[in-house]
Order: sequence, then structure tokens, then C-alpha cells
Amino acid sequence: MGIETIVNISHKYGSDEEFVLAGGGNTSYKDEENLYIKGSGASLAAIKADGFVKMSRKRLSEIWEKTYSQNPAKREAEVLKDMMESRCEGEEAKRPSVETLLHNLFPHTYILHVHPARVNGITCSQGGENVVKHLFPEAIWVKETEPGYILASECRSKLEKYKAETGKAANLLFLQNHGIFFAANGEKELDLLVSHVIGTIKAQEKIVPDFTEVKKDTETVEKIKTVLAYELGGATVKFTLNKEIETLCKSKESFAPVAYPMTPDHIVYCKSSPLFVDGAENIIKDVSDFSGKHGFMPKIVFVKDVGMFACGKDEKDAGTAEKLWLDEIKISVYAKNFDGVRPMAENMIDFIANWEVESYRSKVAQGKA
Ligand SMILES: [Zn+2]
Repeated sequence: MGIETIVNISHKYGSDEEFVLAGGGNTSYKDEENLYIKGSGASLAAIKADGFVKMSRKRLSEIWEKTYSQNPAKREAEVLKDMMESRCEGEEAKRPSVETLLHNLFPHTYILHVHPARVNGITCSQGGENVVKHLFPEAIWVKETEPGYILASECRSKLEKYKAETGKAANLLFLQNHGIFFAANGEKELDLLVSHVIGTIKAQEKIVPDFTEVKKDTETVEKIKTVLAYELGGATVKFTLNKEIETLCKSKESFAPVAYPMTPDHIVYCKSSPLFVDGAENIIKDVSDFSGKHGFMPKIVFVKDVGMFACGKDEKDAGTAEKLWLDEIKISVYAKNFDGVRPMAENMIDFIANWEVESYRSKVAQGKA
């Protein structure tokens, strides 16, 4: 019961790549008084009881009675400060997830929040809202919005409205271009809810990703890797080619479904834009134009008729970028079942790209970075 159960739940879903990639997702357990939320930096697959941050639920709720700055960066910094002050004594060294406010909104004991490709095939599709209404009439749908305080307050009003209308608390919440929240009062109940959702979605899929490996042109790939590594200042470069990538890298038009990030995770690990290069001979010029335009180096580079290159400062960084863009590709394929992809809105991409910087700044300001 309690903390051991949430540790189990975290290990179970955290070690399954269908649910969790690269430190994404979070879990929590609560009693009347306290919320125990996964701390930043802990991975769900390996978290121990002391990896959860013990927080005062009362202090977290008080955030909703306060008025914050109109300036988004200032507002987020103020809310973050109040969130930090909601930590119980002795928890000062830990940093709660940015999604803590959302966890505290549910009355349920156990919360699992994840970003699975299969679910995001719906949340990142044109038909997403209608599909959720149809398949999961008991669920809440929340439109893409600024993460942090605004997203949490949007969820809060939807959850309250649901409770007022139905007399019960919602246990499923879909976030457009982001992921899903599952809420339950026991582990078994949570597992049943998860398998109900995943099973229902699976039954709808006519098109699924085909990641069958495709034979690569080794010589061209090695040449491009060398050029990219040099142009990106000594980056580690990884190459992938499978059936889906083969189709996507045929032309700029066929690349369109994955030309923009689908969720905040894709921005965090792969930056706000990938690069499509129309032939190996254009790489140097295109990389230079790209970095001039965006102010950063590309992490994902598709080369026409060659394949996908994931770049990073080391093996791990490049590997994570590769994993996340393969996830993006999966989502784009699953979305074909639901009227095609709906990538993140441009203003949201900008907001998150800047928000990352702001939240880092506020960490620095508090001496936590
Ligand atoms: Zn999330």
C-alpha cells in the first residue's frame, strides 16, 4: 500500500518503452495530507521511495487562490517558487516535477502520467478530440495550451466541471499534443484502466508503424556522418533507416508529417525543428543556413533518399534524440488512423523553446542549476 505501490507502478510502466522514453512521464501517490510526486531527475524505471518529493497538498491548493503576474515568464517563476515552498520539511534538496499541480487536482490515490506514442497518435492527430469523445466518453480532453500554470488551471476547470455534471471525479485526461493522465485508487484498478485505453486504441488501428530495417548505402552514410560530425563541432552522429524513414526521406513533401515537433518532449530532446536536406551535396550549406535561422544546430537531419541522422554532444545525447524522433515517426503513422497528424502549434513551439530557457534561468536564480 501507499508509497511501495507507487514505486511498483513506476517500475512497471517506466521500464516499458511503450509508455516511457528518456526520463519522460511521472507518477504520484497521495493521502489526505500529502502528495508524493516523482522528483525531477529520477527515472520511473529505477525510482526508489526516497525519489518521491513529499509535498503539502494544502499549500499546493493555495496556489489556486493566488493571483500571479501577467508576464508568462514571471508568472511561471512565481508559481514555481510557491510549488517549491509546498515541499515538506526535509525535502528541500528535491525538485518536484513541473506537472505536480496537475497530479494534485485528482482526488485519486495513484496517478500515472505518460506520453505513449500510441496515445499520442490520437492527441497529435487532426481527429483527436472527436476520437476521444467517441472512444472514451468518460474522459476529459484538454486542448493544447501553454504548459505549467496555464495548462494546470485549464485542467482544473475541466475537472471541476466534470465533477459538477456527473457527480464523480474523472479518471482519464487526454492532453492534446502531450500525453495522458490515468487516475485510480489501487494498482489493479490503474492497470485495468491503462489496458482498457491501450486495448481500445489498438482495436482502432488499421495502419501501424513499419520499422523493418532497410539496407543502407554504407559508404554514403559514413561520408555524411563525418561531414555532420565536423559541421556540428565534433558531434556524435547516429544513423537509422527503416521502412517509415525510407518513405519520409523521399522528398520534402513526404517529410512534411514529421517536419514539426509533436509534443514538448520532442522539443526538449530534439530541439524545435528538424532539418531536411535535399541531397548529400547540400549538407554544409543547409546546416549553416539552419543554424543561422534558428540559432542552434540541428539534432535531427533527414537526407533525401539516405535516411535519418541523430546528432548529439555524446553517444547518450544522440541516442536519446534518435529514440525521440523514432517516437515522433511512430506518432505520425498512428495519427494516419485519425485523419492525419496535427503537430504542435507554432506559437506553442516557440513558447516551450523559450520556456525551457526561462525555467532554467529560474533554477539558476534559485541556485539549483
Ligand atoms: Zn507530461
